[in-house]
Amino acid sequence: EYLVNDLLTLSAIESKGETLQLEKIPLTSVINPVLHLFKDRLENKHVRLNLNIPEGLPDISLDRIKMEQVILNLLDNAIKFTPSGGNISVQASLEHDFLRIDVKDTGIGIEPKHLPHLFERFYRVDKGRSRELGGTGLGLSIVKHILQMHDGRVAVESDVGQGSIFSLFIPIT
Ligand code: ATP
Ligand code: MG
Repeated sequence: EYLVNDLLTLSAIESKGETLQLEKIPLTSVINPVLHLFKDRLENKHVRLNLNIPEGLPDISLDRIKMEQVILNLLDNAIKFTPSGGNISVQASLEHDFLRIDVKDTGIGIEPKHLPHLFERFYRVDKGRSRELGGTGLGLSIVKHILQMHDGRVAVESDVGQGSIFSLFIPIT
């Protein structure tokens, strides 16, 4: 069921006629509703989430629904791949002409050799484990695509056993 939904979404956003529904909105208006969806899962797994969004960030032009999907995918991964007792943090900052959003976890991390492939469709580091955790390997390819649509980009840094940071860069226009 998840696969079908993901595929539908991916093909929808890749179809030619697809355009962004841009709104100039505060970042918190995108992040807060998504955080709410993960409240129970975080509690049940004993993973703590810290939110650090400074006051005074400019509003940015975003497709609200697509950007919610981006945050949703990154948080879903962070929770899946972070063992109990771990931490996740979401923080935002201004970097030159970009708004930067970091989703950081203290999870299992990713070996360097996988990093160049992570955003490819259906790519999963550990197929057995990902299947157990319910993944199809589409989440990050959707994230990358949506950031590209916004003239932005996504980057990752990771250390095995230490955790991962996924960083989004969205232009402030
Ligand atoms: P889906 O998102 O379609 O449910 P998925 O989560 O397996 O499936 P992606 O979100 O595209 O797929 O992630 C690809 C792979 O990257 C994952 O299977 C996992 O191996 C690795 N990965 C992604 N995020 C993290 C993370 N925060 N920590 C460790 N590994 C990660
Ligand atoms: Mg995922």
